[in-house]
Amino acid sequence: MDKIPLPPSPVYPDLEKVLDNLAHHLKGESPLFQLPYQIFAETVAQAPIAISITDKKANIQYVNQEFVRVTGYESVDIIGQNESILSDKRTPRHVYYDLWHTISRKKIWQGRLINRHKNGRRYLSDLIIAPMLDEHEVVTHYIGMHRDITASYEAEKIAINQKQLIESVVNASPFAMVVLDDQDQVILDNQLYKALVSDLGKGEPARYFLRLLRDEMGESWTQLQSREEGFNNREFRVETRKFQGARWFSCAGNWFVEKKVNADAFFEDHSKSYLVLTLTDITRQRRQMEALHIQTLKTLMAEDERIRGIRETLLGAIHQIHLPMNQIKAAESILRHKQDEQNSGLLAILQQIQQSGGAAIATMQKCIPEIFQTAVMAINLNQILHEVLLLCEQRLLSNAIEVHWQPQSDLPSLLGSENRLRILFKQLIDNAIEAMCQSTRDGRKADELQQLTISTKTDGELIYVTVADTGPGIPVSLRSKVFEPFYTTQHKGMGQTGMGLVIAREIVNQHQGLIDIDVDYAEGCRIKVSFPVRSAAGLKG
Ligand code: FAD
Repeated sequence: MDKIPLPPSPVYPDLEKVLDNLAHHLKGESPLFQLPYQIFAETVAQAPIAISITDKKANIQYVNQEFVRVTGYESVDIIGQNESILSDKRTPRHVYYDLWHTISRKKIWQGRLINRHKNGRRYLSDLIIAPMLDEHEVVTHYIGMHRDITASYEAEKIAINQKQLIESVVNASPFAMVVLDDQDQVILDNQLYKALVSDLGKGEPARYFLRLLRDEMGESWTQLQSREEGFNNREFRVETRKFQGARWFSCAGNWFVEKKVNADAFFEDHSKSYLVLTLTDITRQRRQMEALHIQTLKTLMAEDERIRGIRETLLGAIHQIHLPMNQIKAAESILRHKQDEQNSGLLAILQQIQQSGGAAIATMQKCIPEIFQTAVMAINLNQILHEVLLLCEQRLLSNAIEVHWQPQSDLPSLLGSENRLRILFKQLIDNAIEAMCQSTRDGRKADELQQLTISTKTDGELIYVTVADTGPGIPVSLRSKVFEPFYTTQHKGMGQTGMGLVIAREIVNQHQGLIDIDVDYAEGCRIKVSFPVRSAAGLKG
């Protein structure tokens, strides 16, 4: 293609030479070089980016229209001046050093400088400088291209500042806070939340609480999420596998939808749902409430035990009276059949004794106090066992019994009577303590540490509770007898009436469960109790 001579430029005499160089570089590489130089010249002149062409010392030889607009300098004012005229002198020296070090090695430099507009206003310039080489690969000129990015930089800074502000507010929050995306991934969290990761030992705490929340809220979880409504005051007990180590958290959550800002969302509206979850440790408040609750329970249990004591004494007395009464009944029956005149007086006396004995038994039966019944409700056995352990705490400590509390987290609830279940486990734990004290008294295991191990677990259908002690155990021959009324392996008269396990079995039966002595346990006695998970039938009897 023939070269069309350019008209002489008043502002840039070297333009033809520069374009020559450009054509030289593009030769054979782009169809662009086929175009007339004038097109190149106009492209540069009208390009929407501030372009300047300098000599090797940065003396300006050409500027385009956008350069004039961005810097405020007319081309006639600035041609012949050094680019340093734009410098605000706030740019650190090492930036210029790096700039010159790069371009003088024939490389492209890109960076940000603080420039000064002709009117004195400072602006942030995003600058690219490319060296122009001649056919001998020698630098002849530099091309500078820059944009005023002050506004976008300010917006970027404002966004960063806002993020930092949000982060510091979130960090200063007295609750553990976490933001999760729709895949349950943690996007943002605060220091208190981070501390929970190691404190709870449950992996990612947010996912642990999400599981509990979804289980508890069921359908309403998805409904709230779709309506972007929040929830609060959802309280959960978290086992930390230590006696009294359970912690309580109150959970609150709010969903929000964020419009995506990436390239995919440029033409289409992409949005994503996030959940802000706050976890408040309410263990202290719960413990205070628990202490009050335990105090009330102690009073209730003492009353309950008093009533049970009266019941057992009367039932025991009735049981005792029945034996001679049966003998009298047999004697009376023999005499009656003999129809002996001689013994008619004795027969009358025996009948009188029977009558008055029967009346006495009836009176005693009327005097047996009723056991207070409580409402049937969904019960967490971990909570009941924890309370019973607190109720027995003093006895356990004073007898130096080590407690191993092994609850399964997320234990499903069962339908039952709180009060009855508390009596059941109190009885089993009291029995275990008594058996271990007996061992120590007898000197059998005097040197050994006595241990009480309580565990809960579930297979989804049944909930299993075991109460194991290191006492003398129950001999195989007596394992069914101990569930019979008034049978005890301890000395009667030491508070042992032999009714404890009878009542325990009755309570387990009422909850459609099973109670047994573990035959595989040799270190003492282990009682196994199992209940159906949330049996719809509720309590029997
Ligand atoms: P100067 O004395 O000019 O230079 C400071 C340091 O730069 C020196 O110590 C030296 O290390 C180095 N240096 C300067 N000139 C040369 C050279 N010829 N060869 C090797 N090293 C050298 N500056 C801006 O502030 N804003 C701009 O928009 C801008 N655009 C530019 C566009 C082009 C195409 C080029 C080539 C340079 C541009 N510069 C720009 C850089 C400018 O030329 C100055 O170097 C800079 O402004 C610093 O000026 P100064 O008077 O403070 O220091």
